Amino acid sequence: MNNKLYDKLIFELSRQGRCGYSLPKNNYPDAVGSIPATLMRENEIGLPQVDELTVVRHYTNMSTNNFGVDTGFYPLGSCTMKYNPKINEEMAGNSVIASMHPNQPARLSQGALEIYHTLAAALSEIGGMAEFTLNPYAGAHGELTGLMICRAYHDSRGDKKRTKVIIPDSAHGTNPASAAVAGLQVVPVKSLPDGTVDVEALAPLLDDSVAAMMMTNPNTLGIFERQIPQIAEMVHAAGALLYYDGANLNPMLGIARPGDMGFDVMHINLHKTFSTPHGGGGPGSGPVGVRAGLEHLLPNPRVVKNEDGTFDLISSPDSMGRVSSTLGNFAVEMRALSYILSLGSDGLMEAGRLATLNANYIKESLRDVYELPVDTICKHEFVFDGLKDKSTGVTTLNIAKRLLDYGFHAPTIYFPLLFHESLMIEPTETESLDTIDSFIEVMRQIAHEAVNDPEMVKSAPHTTPVRRPDDTEAALHPRLTFDEL
Ligand SMILES: *Cc1c(COP(=O)(O)O)cnc(C)c1O
Repeated sequence: MNNKLYDKLIFELSRQGRCGYSLPKNNYPDAVGSIPATLMRENEIGLPQVDELTVVRHYTNMSTNNFGVDTGFYPLGSCTMKYNPKINEEMAGNSVIASMHPNQPARLSQGALEIYHTLAAALSEIGGMAEFTLNPYAGAHGELTGLMICRAYHDSRGDKKRTKVIIPDSAHGTNPASAAVAGLQVVPVKSLPDGTVDVEALAPLLDDSVAAMMMTNPNTLGIFERQIPQIAEMVHAAGALLYYDGANLNPMLGIARPGDMGFDVMHINLHKTFSTPHGGGGPGSGPVGVRAGLEHLLPNPRVVKNEDGTFDLISSPDSMGRVSSTLGNFAVEMRALSYILSLGSDGLMEAGRLATLNANYIKESLRDVYELPVDTICKHEFVFDGLKDKSTGVTTLNIAKRLLDYGFHAPTIYFPLLFHESLMIEPTETESLDTIDSFIEVMRQIAHEAVNDPEMVKSAPHTTPVRRPDDTEAALHPRLTFDEL
């Protein structure tokens, strides 16, 4: 974009008296006088004054500065940026559902309650759980809800001494954060060199002060944790509950179920596995499932199906409480149900298998030039530890920035924290072989450039509107408003 007009803020494009919209004539001029002075604006509102064409060009050009799954390959590990079929949007935008009032009584919301109940039942089947709530608004919110369910479980048994949560050192940062918000103390457990939980290191940590252990399977390295049955037995023997972080459920779809492995409580990130566009932080949904015997602890309200086929909202006095104002992010739930029903059980299983195949294909195609710290079959994602040739001085950050020049979104970088130069790639099942092959080619090209022209890679990106923002400055002193108003 080389036209300077397109770099300006809408306020900078404002010209006194220019207008792109006419308000209808006020038919009640006298009414203005009856508005109390306390409700009247004291200063000019300061809106930009622009014509319609300027507005259209401004926002259209701005939208093309964005990068999304709809514009290119987005192999952001841990985030599952799969393509979101447009039929889901059509379903979520259904005018009947969209115009419902959140507090409409159950007898006037039977369709919406049936949608909720059908999706919750499908997730229970997929996760091997007894019941799901769809109320939490995100994965992290689901973690908090799930941990509060664990606390409510121990409290209901008069067991007040359980204040700790065991979390692997490879875990996503939201796990310890949710535990802290739930008022629990975090106890980290070491990983083995292959990234799986060190069962020997776990044993001495388990006693009657532990409320729960959180696990992600496949873990954040994309490796399947084979010791789960043993871990479940150890955790249960100590009287604690086993929590499943379902952010990596994608490769497991229809193949293995957390409930069958011995997990008691789990969450699913609908926006990841079940297809809602979620770049830039939202919207999300983090349904929480529990095994039989814990249903009464789920957040209020719960949606139940009556014997006559109608649906009701119920509140349980034993519930861990309320986590959302209504029944969760309903549009995200609509998309998830649309996605699940359009794929069907065979399609879901195929999705998980393809996600696994694609990740292993990329891993094997690049392992001669990128450092592979854990050499085993992965599930839907895997981690490189930077370039194999460490003499070039080209870092993972440089590789990520250089990918932008080639029109690819960067993979996740510097997570998990187990390696210095983590580069975490998750292609998902929705990418064609052509896209994946061209990504592999570009990754090889960057490895080649790192040797032959390292300065060029270190100073990338060269083609984006913004090159290297100061991350620290942006995080500590974000400028989110236009101050020349
Ligand atoms: C994304 C993710 C989370 C957090 O989920 P949000 O929906 O972003 O709150 C938790 N754990 C893992 C492993 C994740 O990848």
